[in-house]
Amino acid sequence: METNKMKYVIGVDIGGTHLRVGAVTPDKELHFFEKKKIADILDNLHPVESLIQFLDGFIQANLGNSDVLGIGMGFPSVVSKDKKRVLATTNLNINDINIADPIQEYFRVPVVIENDVNHLLHYEISQRSVLNDEIILGFYIGTGFGNSIYINNRFLDGKNGAAGELGHIPVLGDEAVCQCGNTGCIETYASGKTLVLLHQEYFSDVPFEDVFTKYANSEHIVKFIKSLAVPIATEINIFDPHLVMIGGGVVGMKDFPKRQLENEIIRYCRKPYPANGLVIEYAEDTNAAGVLGAATNLYDNYIGKSISTR
Ligand SMILES: [Zn+2]
Repeated sequence: METNKMKYVIGVDIGGTHLRVGAVTPDKELHFFEKKKIADILDNLHPVESLIQFLDGFIQANLGNSDVLGIGMGFPSVVSKDKKRVLATTNLNINDINIADPIQEYFRVPVVIENDVNHLLHYEISQRSVLNDEIILGFYIGTGFGNSIYINNRFLDGKNGAAGELGHIPVLGDEAVCQCGNTGCIETYASGKTLVLLHQEYFSDVPFEDVFTKYANSEHIVKFIKSLAVPIATEINIFDPHLVMIGGGVVGMKDFPKRQLENEIIRYCRKPYPANGLVIEYAEDTNAAGVLGAATNLYDNYIGKSISTR
């Protein structure tokens, strides 16, 4: 019997610190949005089982009388090209695990996993008129340093799914140990983790969220902003992009010095191009964008709706 049940795709956005979830209608409307501490949900020893338990609870609480069309999940990880396995995660202990198949078996709906930054950039692209040949670079500074490269109408994934790991570009002379196991990665000094350490060491007289308000001009913050600008400009010099999208929790903090960051990016960009006319935009709503991006990816690329790039 045909019923007129509500239809939803569940979007899940797993970051280094928080898990966000919501149900998204085919018109891309977000419902039942929740933000949780990842440590309260994810059992490191049984990640798949704990995610199934969480999703089961979410569905029973909110979507009991609705049709769930699929589940899209973003991880802060290298994700396999078949979009089923998490291959490696820097800031969570999830490595080489098939996430999609057991969840798909349990809920009997399509389940697709993807790098979380690709979801964030997918959402921004779906909000804009993007032409076919445009190159768009996304830089998301949260717990780590996330990067996404959109080229030839798709997200660059490389041979294994590991393309765009800008945070793990080595820096000569830097011996700090990165959580990926290498030493000298960009992420060891250009990430939210670094900002937390700077706050503890030099700025503990103000709450963390006031660091930029009070200390944007201090030597340590000026150097921190420069450390973000160098890898961003490096990738701009490789791709000569049409659009640069910058976001993430650090960039969304009160009084983040955007002008200072832009000046430093331009300083390191090749002149006259790609420096001249470089377009930089900010992803303003990163709170729900990962959930919307996860669901939009499923609708656009897996459930047979139109492709988002117009
Ligand atoms: Zn690394």
